[in-house]
Amino acid sequence: MSQRAPMQEGAQDAALLAAHELRSNASHIPRRKVQMPVLAPAEEAQPWVGPNGQIMRRLELHLTYHCPERCIFCSEEHRMEAFHPFDVTWARVATVLRTHAARGVQAVHLTGGEPTLHPQFVEVCVLARKLGMRTSVGTIGTMLSKPAFAAKAVPWLDEALFSIHGPNAEIHDALTRRAGSFETVTRALRNALEVNPAFGAFVNIVVTRLNVDHLGETVEKVAALGAKLIVISNTTPEGGGLDHFDQIELPLAKLAAVMPTLPERAGGAIVRFFGMPMCLLAPHESLSNDVHWDPRVTVEWGREPGKVVFRDFYNWEPNRKRVHVAACQGCTRRGVCMGVYDTYAERYETPELRPYTEVR
Ligand code: SF4
Repeated sequence: MSQRAPMQEGAQDAALLAAHELRSNASHIPRRKVQMPVLAPAEEAQPWVGPNGQIMRRLELHLTYHCPERCIFCSEEHRMEAFHPFDVTWARVATVLRTHAARGVQAVHLTGGEPTLHPQFVEVCVLARKLGMRTSVGTIGTMLSKPAFAAKAVPWLDEALFSIHGPNAEIHDALTRRAGSFETVTRALRNALEVNPAFGAFVNIVVTRLNVDHLGETVEKVAALGAKLIVISNTTPEGGGLDHFDQIELPLAKLAAVMPTLPERAGGAIVRFFGMPMCLLAPHESLSNDVHWDPRVTVEWGREPGKVVFRDFYNWEPNRKRVHVAACQGCTRRGVCMGVYDTYAERYETPELRPYTEVR
C-alpha cells in the first residue's frame, strides 16, 4: 500500500485517451475478455425482508449486454463481454416483472448495457407500468435520441438517468470513446422533455481524473438542459473502471477539494454523490447517496457450475465494492456511510478521511 501521489496529469492520461481513434461507431475498440467468477447456486428461499426489517421495493433489471459506446470507466464491461451471447428474451423479462410485482416491488430500473436497444424495450415499460411499477432507465441515449422512439417510450417511463460526463463533445466523447456520443445523449434528454415537460430527466456524471477539472461546467450544463436530479458518481472499480483504476480514479484529496464546490453550480437541481466517503463531502454530507439509497434486487446473468443463469442478487446496503478502513472504526457515521472503494483501500493509504466523533 502506498501514499496516493498528488494528481499528475499529462503523458499517462493523454496516452489512455489517445489509445484508440474516435469514430462514430466504437466497435473497433476491443472489450477485455475476463472470466466471470462461478457463483454458488442461488438458494431456493429468497430473502424478501432485509436484516434491518427493510422491505424490498426496487428491481434493477439488466435488459441488454451490448452498448454502442466504450466508456473508459464502464463497470459493466466484463459482464458485457462474458454474457452478450445470451439474449434477455421477452418471455424471461415478463416472468421477472410479474414475479417481482407479485412480491411487492413498486419500481423497476432498466439497465444494461444500453437498455433502449432491447427489441421490446417499449413493451417492457408498458408491462411494468401495467403491473403498477414506476419505470426508469439508465441510458446513454441511443434510441431516445430518435424522436419517433422517444414519442413511443417516454409516455411509459417516469424517469431516465442520462449518462453525461462532460460539458461538451470534446470531454464527453473522449470518455465514452465514440464520436457523436454527446450529441446523441443530449438530444435524447431534450426529446424526453419535449414529449413530457414534467418527465424525470436525471443525469449521471462519472467522476474521473480525465474530467475532474470540467465537473463544475458539466453540472451547470446538465442543469441548463433541464436535469432535475444530478448524480455525481465516483468511478466504481469494476470492469473498465478496474482495468484503468490507477489512471482514472481520483485521489481522495482531489475528491475532497472538488466535490463540495459542485452543489452550488446545480441551480435548482437536486445533487447526489455516489460511491464517496461522506466525510469528504462536508458541508454537503446530506447529499451522499448512502443516505438516500433503497434496497434493491438486481436481476442479471451470472455463472453457476456448468451453466449461465438469469438470477436475483440482493443488496440491502449501498456497500457494493465499499469497505471501512482503520480510520472508520471509531467514526460515529459508519452505520450510514459505507466507506471507500475496496480497490482504493487495497492500493493506497487514506489519511484524508475525517472520522466523525459527535454522537447523535
Ligand atoms: S471516516 Fe469512514 S465511515 Fe466515517 S465518514 Fe469517512 S469514510 Fe465514512
